[in-house]
Amino acid sequence: MSENKDSQVVKFVYDFTEGNKNLKDLLGGKGANLAEMTNLGLPVPPGFTITTEACKVYLDSGEEPVALRDEVSSHLDALEKKMGKKLGQADNPLLVSVRSGAKFSMPGMMDTVLNIGLSDKSVQGLAKQAGDDRFAWDSYRRLIQMFGKTVLDVDGELFEDALEKAKEAKKVTVDTDLDAADLKKLVTRFKKIVKTEAGRDFPQDPREQMDLAINAVFESWNTDRAKLYRRQERIPGDLGTAVNVCSMVFGNLGPDSGTGVAFTRDPASGHQGVYGDYLQNAQGEDVVAGIRNTVPLAELEQIDKKSYDQLMQIMETLENHYKDLCDIEFTIERGQLWMLQTRVGKRTAGAAFRIATQLVDQGLIDEAEALQRVSGAQLAQLMFPRFDDEAKVDLLGRGIAASPGAAVGKAVFDSYTAIKWSRSGEKVILIRRETNPDDLDGMIACEGILTSRGGKTSHAAVVARGMGKTCVCGAEDLEVDTKRRRMTIGETIVEEGDVVSIDGSTGKVYLGEVPVVPSPVVEYFEGRMHAGADDADELVGAVHRIMAYADRVRRLRVRANADNAEDALRARRFGAQGIGLCRTEHMFLGDRRELVEKLILADTDGEREESLKLLLPLQKQDFVELFEAMDGLPVTVRLLDPPLHEFLPDITELSVRVALAESRKDNNENDLRLLQAVHRLHEQNPMLGLRGVRLGLVIPGLFTMQVRAIAEAAAERKNAKGDPRAEIMIPLVGTVQELEIVREEADQVIAEVEEQTGIKLKLAIGTMIELPRAALTAGQIAEAAQFFSFGTNDLTQTVWGFSRDDVEASFFTAYLEKGIFGVSPFETIDRDGVGSLVKSAVEAGRATRPDLKLGVCGEHGGDPESVHFFHEVGLDYVSCSPFRIPVARLEAGRAASTSQGSDHR
Ligand code: ADP
Ligand code: MG
Ligand code: MG
Repeated sequence: MSENKDSQVVKFVYDFTEGNKNLKDLLGGKGANLAEMTNLGLPVPPGFTITTEACKVYLDSGEEPVALRDEVSSHLDALEKKMGKKLGQADNPLLVSVRSGAKFSMPGMMDTVLNIGLSDKSVQGLAKQAGDDRFAWDSYRRLIQMFGKTVLDVDGELFEDALEKAKEAKKVTVDTDLDAADLKKLVTRFKKIVKTEAGRDFPQDPREQMDLAINAVFESWNTDRAKLYRRQERIPGDLGTAVNVCSMVFGNLGPDSGTGVAFTRDPASGHQGVYGDYLQNAQGEDVVAGIRNTVPLAELEQIDKKSYDQLMQIMETLENHYKDLCDIEFTIERGQLWMLQTRVGKRTAGAAFRIATQLVDQGLIDEAEALQRVSGAQLAQLMFPRFDDEAKVDLLGRGIAASPGAAVGKAVFDSYTAIKWSRSGEKVILIRRETNPDDLDGMIACEGILTSRGGKTSHAAVVARGMGKTCVCGAEDLEVDTKRRRMTIGETIVEEGDVVSIDGSTGKVYLGEVPVVPSPVVEYFEGRMHAGADDADELVGAVHRIMAYADRVRRLRVRANADNAEDALRARRFGAQGIGLCRTEHMFLGDRRELVEKLILADTDGEREESLKLLLPLQKQDFVELFEAMDGLPVTVRLLDPPLHEFLPDITELSVRVALAESRKDNNENDLRLLQAVHRLHEQNPMLGLRGVRLGLVIPGLFTMQVRAIAEAAAERKNAKGDPRAEIMIPLVGTVQELEIVREEADQVIAEVEEQTGIKLKLAIGTMIELPRAALTAGQIAEAAQFFSFGTNDLTQTVWGFSRDDVEASFFTAYLEKGIFGVSPFETIDRDGVGSLVKSAVEAGRATRPDLKLGVCGEHGGDPESVHFFHEVGLDYVSCSPFRIPVARLEAGRAASTSQGSDHR
């Protein structure tokens, strides 16, 4: 009976021997991997892990779960038996570390406390046990320092200062030169600091130390820093952290001891080799803290050959076991090697592709798994032009790599100058302390943006990423003085007009012009570099192989948004399988604007027909070229979408012109009429005004002219033995009636052209689904549409009630900071809102018309996460800008690939 009851009780504590690497949700990454290594038979100091479930209870209720204390006690008992010591026992103390470890690594967010169990009494025991006074007092001062800072919230600098003073007093520079007596004094000093700052004594009871440390780890989940980090990395806030209690091993027991970190491969190139750092006579964070100089790991071979060989052996075991690059932490205690941590290591984008194919070649993973080891975001990074590695550079400083790319230009310190200079053909880098919505025009005008304040979600970063513009933000060493139009970095002064180069992929800022080289990956996609060629680099070969695999497995087709033959041809080279969106409005600008103006101003049918007649052959020629470029592939042409006033002069400029003319009494008839038209067409909310299908319905002849141009162009291409596959798309439909009217007219025009030319044209007619009403009545609309293309930009605007141009620059930063969304819904599709409308429209549309073709042509079509969503809801294709096509192909492959068992995010 009691057994039954017990088995239902939640288990909050797992011995290292009980877990494994698949239990990251419960044991956190560190705990799961410590258990995995233990079970592999690697030398891991014994210990146990308190689950994230316990943390969740603590965070919800403010108290640890009732059962936790007893469970910890029994695991501690077992640990003490195994080690033959008791926690903090005066003559033979067991010491432990209390370490945080969440599911996803959050570097530097939650601290670890080492040497728990030391007290005024047990420090003596430790000294005797180790036969080393200095070591014991060094360990004790470290405990008080870490415990004071992490658990008791004492300002860490106070301890640092005291340590500095002790070194100064002794005229030494490194902590290892302090002897036992010095450290003993330091302990007294540290305890005083604790007493004054925390208002309590440093706890002498070892179990109290441990319990307080455990709670502190729970608490650390919710520090501001940790919350911000999670928001930026899009880690859910309710996961909680696990706590690892691990028996101590000591790297600070003299020169035959030490501690180090290592990678099983080079995280930059992916190549196998010995990569890491080692520090003799040191504990824990000393390696990364940079207080003493580490030596390259390879030197460990001279220092301690036995441990080195064993470490190499273990690294190989880990690689073969995890089938991936691992990073590890280890400690050597008097010639005995201990493993303290491992995890699948972070890597650069280039290394990710290289490592994935290297592992396939080694037979460790298959192609499906290789596909999961890379991401579209990494591929996108590899496609930006970059600074020439070989170039001699003058590094000024570095900030946060906020939006990738390599930008070079003259320094300007305000938006006005940015705009003025860029108009006269200069390339400029806009440098600000931080940006705000007033800087928008300057941000558009410049090559890149550099700020000295703000992080990855600052205004500059968010807006720059949205515009695809290079940005380095938060470069705190730069002192930006906008009044004097200069910035200072240490000794260096950069004046307005001086050339600077910024690298949005690394955050580095250079003085002068650093030469930019095109990305080899783009050269490859462009067909200018062949993966098989002798001089092709390893990276290109890896990208080629992984792309080929993605193309083989993906179900989604990938089309391009392209308006002219040039873009279409590039899209084709990049692997586009058609055009998903050809916007016709660009075809109405330039020289043709005058004709469009006439059309808008036309008073009579005759005048209107006259201008339409002049536009027709021009439009037709555009389509002939496009269909030729895309011969054999579908081309979806969207009929005119934007409000007409976009084709008329600016209202203010025109008013001024008319007023000036009036004062000179030489009125221009045309200007007056134009002004009237501008006034007539002026709208409060043009986005929701006279545009899309509404234009087609109220301007007679406009849409039919466009349809005729498409039909005649298709006929001409057929005559030339081409294979045009035009699809006509009606924008902004809200109800099936709109579509029916336009369709009837279109069908008639097509029939006329077929009769005139004697050529049968199979032109599909479909609609965009970009208004909530269209999505909600998709079943009806499908009666009149042969295809749907989801216009997720407008759909996002109308579902959220956001005007994109207005909201992104004004309050999105605040929304991101408050965590209302982790990413802009214009960047990644909002699955719950916009996405659910897409999903139901897909179902309703297909229910009406099972062979309905479904695609998406909003910018989401090239966004990795959104591509997965479109795959899941069963679209036929995504369409995106030519440059994003490889990313979409890769992600479509990843979405379709069934490989499981990957830890990669
Ligand atoms: P982080 O997640 O910051 O790396 P860790 O929990 O890994 O934190 O611990 C910080 C440092 O202390 C690391 O260098 C680790 O190797 C070391 N450390 C942790 N536990 C022990 C232990 N039981 N014995 C010796 N060193 C330890
Ligand atoms: Mg660690
Ligand atoms: Mg639209």
